[in-house]
Amino acid sequence: MFDLAVYGRVCGGPKSWVSVEEGMIVRVSRERAGKSAAEMVLSDSQFLMPAATDLHVHLRDFAQKKKETVETGTKSAIAGGITTVADMPNTDPKVDSARMVEKRVDLLRSDSYTDFALHAGAPDSPQEVAKMHAAGAFALKLYPPELGGFHELLKETSRAGMKMAVHAEEFALIGTESAPLAEGVAVRKILQQVGQRSDVRFAHVSTADGASEIARARRIAGRLTMEVSPHHLFMDEEMADKRIGVTKKVNPSLRSRSNSAKMRRMMLRGIFDFYASDHAPHTVEDKFQGSPGFPALEFSLPLFLTKTDDPELVARMYCEAPATYLGLRKGRVRKGYTADLVVVGRRDWKIDPEKFVSKGRVTPFAGETMRYAIDHVLKAGKTVFDGRRVTKTETVLVTGRPQKSSRGGVSR
Ligand SMILES: [Zn+2]
Repeated sequence: MFDLAVYGRVCGGPKSWVSVEEGMIVRVSRERAGKSAAEMVLSDSQFLMPAATDLHVHLRDFAQKKKETVETGTKSAIAGGITTVADMPNTDPKVDSARMVEKRVDLLRSDSYTDFALHAGAPDSPQEVAKMHAAGAFALKLYPPELGGFHELLKETSRAGMKMAVHAEEFALIGTESAPLAEGVAVRKILQQVGQRSDVRFAHVSTADGASEIARARRIAGRLTMEVSPHHLFMDEEMADKRIGVTKKVNPSLRSRSNSAKMRRMMLRGIFDFYASDHAPHTVEDKFQGSPGFPALEFSLPLFLTKTDDPELVARMYCEAPATYLGLRKGRVRKGYTADLVVVGRRDWKIDPEKFVSKGRVTPFAGETMRYAIDHVLKAGKTVFDGRRVTKTETVLVTGRPQKSSRGGVSR
């Protein structure tokens, strides 16, 4: 007897029975496979897809509880169909030592509604890198002012078997007239320093120029991967300015309309590995004082579906690829994968920041009509969102090492 069986279309495919036992998908078949303790039958306007893994999320908390907390941010992720998030280290205080990684892991363990992975920030001494990894950080994240230390820190992450993530923009050019060139310049410098086996992820690639440089380089060297954000794909500076004026600030900046059109074409050619929200934790007051970034966890999955009408592409870039990158058996509706699943409904709704669980409220996507909605979310086979309420279940720290294909859905 299975714990749960879900019947319905899987992404764009045929109707199937998805059977779940002890948190794992144990069977996907066209015929009913036997008895289940519970059954969920989807309507014709619904389909089942894997839950998303978001590699780029700013949660804050600590001294900045007025902004996003771990609780509000991860709750908002669950309501958006995301069951794993990778937290960013530019908190107050920063997560840039083994001691702070431990503190952050403790906080995430007690308050997070999603499974979580942790980026550590550039430490005072390179020797700290391996210790931060041992304390639970899966990756090191470097910001533009820290890129000068890239080479030395890359040696440390490689030695520790840890991943590296970079915000590639030439610091001196940000905010100047040459700002659109900042990314290409930094990308070229970094690419000169990577080796055959370097594991480097370029966060929120924002220009077609930067993206093509990286795409060219990865044919020869290393495990180089790229994220692309919802706002760099589906928003541009002019439109954001019309909609939200001075609060349109984000790093990297929004670019021209022709650049985002180029980026979308590149996405369809498979240039970007991951779609990642770069969810920012700022309140309305923060935004008027110049804080960069937008909240997105609650709608980034419906937005991606709405803009592409391609559930298979969305599942690949927002579910399977990021989960695989983190060493998780998640992100596919397939036997042997964790039963983190989303029921998506084909109905219209409008993005209304006033209704967000997240404390972030300023987004240039406000008011846009979404054609897909998150109706139900399962995490390890258990309901964590029923369309109205978010429920807390057991969560795990994701360390980036490959997950054994064991039953029980626990990743170590
Ligand atoms: Zn970010």
